[in-house]
Amino acid sequence: MKRLFEINSWKIIETELHKENFRLAESVMSLGNGHMGMRGNFEESFSGDHHQGSYIAGVWFPDKTRVGWWKNGYPEYFGKVINSTNFIGIRLFLDGEEVDLNKAKIKEYYRELDMQHGVLTRTFTVVDNGKETLVETVRFLSVAEPELAVIRYSVTALNYEGSMKLIPYLDGDVRNEDANYDEDFWIEISKDVQDFQGHLVMKTKDNPFGTPTFQVAVAMKLAVQGEMTKMVANMDTEYVDNVIEARAAQGKTIHVYKYVAVTTDRDHEAANLVHKGQMILEHSYQKGFDGLLEEHRQEWLKRWSRADVEISGDDEAQQGIRFNLFQLFSTYYGEDSRLNIGPKGFTGEKYGGATYWDTEAYAIPLYLSTADASVARNLCIYRHNQLDGAYGNARKQGIKGALYPMVTFNGIECHNEWEITFEEIHRNGAIAYAIYNYVNYTGDREYLQEFGVDVLIGIARFWADRVHFNKKKQLYMIHGVTGPNEYENNINNNWYTNRIAMWTLSYALEVIDFLRKNSHLAKLQELNISETEMLEWKHIAANMYLPYDEELDVFVQHDTFLDKDLMTVDQLEPSDRPINQNWSWDKILRSCFIKQADVLQGLYFLNHEFSNEEKRRNFEFYEPMTVHESSLSPSIHAVLAAELGMEKKAYEMYNRTARLDLDNYNNDTEDGLHITSMTGSWLAIVQGFAGMRTANETLSFAPFIPNAWDRYSFNIIYRSHEIKVEVTKDEVIISQRGSELQLSLYGEPKTIFANGKLNVPLNGKGGRHE
Ligand code: BGC
Repeated sequence: MKRLFEINSWKIIETELHKENFRLAESVMSLGNGHMGMRGNFEESFSGDHHQGSYIAGVWFPDKTRVGWWKNGYPEYFGKVINSTNFIGIRLFLDGEEVDLNKAKIKEYYRELDMQHGVLTRTFTVVDNGKETLVETVRFLSVAEPELAVIRYSVTALNYEGSMKLIPYLDGDVRNEDANYDEDFWIEISKDVQDFQGHLVMKTKDNPFGTPTFQVAVAMKLAVQGEMTKMVANMDTEYVDNVIEARAAQGKTIHVYKYVAVTTDRDHEAANLVHKGQMILEHSYQKGFDGLLEEHRQEWLKRWSRADVEISGDDEAQQGIRFNLFQLFSTYYGEDSRLNIGPKGFTGEKYGGATYWDTEAYAIPLYLSTADASVARNLCIYRHNQLDGAYGNARKQGIKGALYPMVTFNGIECHNEWEITFEEIHRNGAIAYAIYNYVNYTGDREYLQEFGVDVLIGIARFWADRVHFNKKKQLYMIHGVTGPNEYENNINNNWYTNRIAMWTLSYALEVIDFLRKNSHLAKLQELNISETEMLEWKHIAANMYLPYDEELDVFVQHDTFLDKDLMTVDQLEPSDRPINQNWSWDKILRSCFIKQADVLQGLYFLNHEFSNEEKRRNFEFYEPMTVHESSLSPSIHAVLAAELGMEKKAYEMYNRTARLDLDNYNNDTEDGLHITSMTGSWLAIVQGFAGMRTANETLSFAPFIPNAWDRYSFNIIYRSHEIKVEVTKDEVIISQRGSELQLSLYGEPKTIFANGKLNVPLNGKGGRHE
């Protein structure tokens, strides 16, 4: 493995321009502030292979479906958050020659992503026939003012006198690389440009699918410090710029400040977008670059004080978790309840920035512990708002109830591969599980009658219709599915799918029972739920077929899994891996190799329902066949391995999830970062190494410390308690702010007094209170 970025606990540093890995570096250097985000593109022109990408949260387009062979039930479009106006651009000319960093001779290249403060900086010297020019750039997307982006671009002629030209511009002529029909999704609405300012308003094209269009206004305001000789304002189709000419006097620096406001009609009246943007620019300009930078830095520091995970003794691990939290919070910090978390956030186009089961399965646990409860609640309500779409998806497949989509913006399925759209129905289970998780973690039972029960009943109705009764075995079965392991399709009785379906039916009945006992009869009447229906669910849950092998004493991934040529991953040649890039799809489907946790996903979710022995046997059987080619895979294995005392494995899986993108483990980071799986490194530490569980509304820990670490600590919020957990080589220290707290530590009940602290020996008995 070639490491491109230096190890540093708070920074991602690049000291070489990696032209051969340019897209990869662009992904890693991405910035975002929840409202918008972008790949780490350069301000200057770059003629080499790269992917220019800026994206605005919630601004998406329904790209007409393109498939080789149409199948009934396919969706009409694939929704995608679309590439938007490039607003960072600043072209640079030195003595009349444009600087193209793909061709220019440069030295002392340095790029740094400061994760602690959310700032991207670069410095490099352009060398041309002995003339040396220093370029320094600073860029941030303000967290204090989310519609604002700020760039300072500074140029110094080091050893010559001459001329320079800088052209800050806004360019609306952008396309998605993955557009199905090479279509331009935007039309220009208006533009204007004058000296030191300009704007461009673009609108997404009308579409035949009835989904909303969006207007986006990008306004810029410029300031120049240094000897400017001339300024000319220009415009063209979908484009505005300012040409700034200046004298390149030896040792003197020209600074161009580019303030950009990005406003959309998601938040403001379409007619006011430009005005609103100009107001933001006006008061930002008054605050000035340093003031804006400082308030932005303070916001990041606040985020870290709440959610930082500190690791001593292992800088690689420390950098990994901080990179993950940084990119995750850059994508989604929970301020806008209309949004969700795309698997690649704002860092690439794959997966279209849409909502996947990743949110419920992987992201909600982290937000439950690191943010106000309203954030996880809103993520659950997001699905409630889309219940009609989910009923529609099931109807389209000829099935009753609600089928949540694999990929969506509005509840309507966007994915168009039969093995996923029709078959990867386990996703429905994760939506139900998230409701359980939220209510169990927060104790907010009101949620159940307000929103939760509607969704649970919809999903339960789906499972009740999707099963069939096998008369021979007198059991219910689910045929024709794809489990979480997407390296097998159209299998029968995927253990995980059957188990999560059975669990959902039981949980829905439990919730109905709870609502009945708590006098919410009107709500149940409204949902028209009958005794017969409930009896049927009970019967299915009690008689679900769950493949199991007596000899091996493991749950069987699906009916014919054990008939495969079973091998372990260590029998593969390095040149085979990743198999999804080196093997034919046919060979993958016939192989036993598992893409991501499947049976083990069930043992992770329903952890408290299985014994340690069951977990161990299944882990030891399945993990060696798992190639972890979904970024979602290693973290689940880290949590289970930690629980089973397999410290080495847990640590290996932690590193793999925490440094997945920094070390490009799956050889695909150039497409964008694996944002939703970035929660995995947090899960691995908090649920894995520290063993946090909240089953049955009891908070518990059972920490250990990986050999390579001297100490680690993290903060969580649990039911209005702010808790800090520190683990050293000798002890566990849990301190909290809040009223008296009951918890379980290494299986023993403990009390921490109000605003108190508890020390216990690591893995040990006893303990001290303060
Ligand atoms: C995984 C899915 C996941 C999707 C988006 C796929 O590779 O197999 O489980 O939902 O990526 O992250």
